[in-house]
Amino acid sequence: MAEVHLSKIVKRYGSLEVVHGIDLEVAHNEFVVLVGPSGCGKSTTLRMIAGLEEISGGELKIGDRVVNSLPPRSRNISMVFQSYALYPHMTVRENLGFGLKIAGMTPEDIKPRVDEAAAILGLESFMDRLPANLSGGQRQRVAMGRAIVRHPDVFLFDEPLSNLDAKLRGQMRVEIKKLHQRVKTTVIYVTHDQVEAMTLADRIVIMRDGYVEQVGTPTEVFENPANTFVAGFIGSPP
Ligand code: ADP
Ligand code: MG
Repeated sequence: MAEVHLSKIVKRYGSLEVVHGIDLEVAHNEFVVLVGPSGCGKSTTLRMIAGLEEISGGELKIGDRVVNSLPPRSRNISMVFQSYALYPHMTVRENLGFGLKIAGMTPEDIKPRVDEAAAILGLESFMDRLPANLSGGQRQRVAMGRAIVRHPDVFLFDEPLSNLDAKLRGQMRVEIKKLHQRVKTTVIYVTHDQVEAMTLADRIVIMRDGYVEQVGTPTEVFENPANTFVAGFIGSPP
């Protein structure tokens, strides 16, 4: 059974339709990447899955629950954004634990979760630092740590690496792949970067103008592109 199931999902802003009835199934523990040019509807689709954007039509299921009208907190999903959104006046440890604290967890329950996330991400020696005293890559790890501590069923990433320089982006790709292998979780990851998509994905979803053009493994879409758009998009240099 699919962990995340989009059936004819539509998004309208007023009279403007920007997502035109998307079908997609993401399996348990699968790493799916939504890729496509700027403005094609990737973030909108992700935000509908997260519950940050109302769904105009169709059905969204997580596990066996229809979640169309459930608030974000009830969906057991964590989202990592491009902007790190760390609290500048809190240490790494406090940043990692804050979401759990406001969810009502006790310090005794929070500590092991925070320590576990720190170990997974290699943040143990930075726990008492403020975000201002971290590198871009370390900050991005803290942002991911804040998602991990919640033990979500599904991770959503919206262009998490686009603020990083090319070298760090390459390193973080490897980190994210490793993270997925260790944490064993379902991931839906948005990028406009073909190389990032091809490197990370179990399956790629190629979007254009609010439609899905093709879904397949990186090898499938590379070797058998559905149309000239996909061929051009995947084949073009990064
Ligand atoms: P992507 O993430 O692929 O770059 P988006 O999902 O952000 O694309 O946007 C898809 C389309 O929806 C774009 O044409 C964008 O201008 C439009 N859009 C996004 N948010 C809004 C909004 N709040 N109001 C109106 N149009 C929007
Ligand atoms: Mg976007």
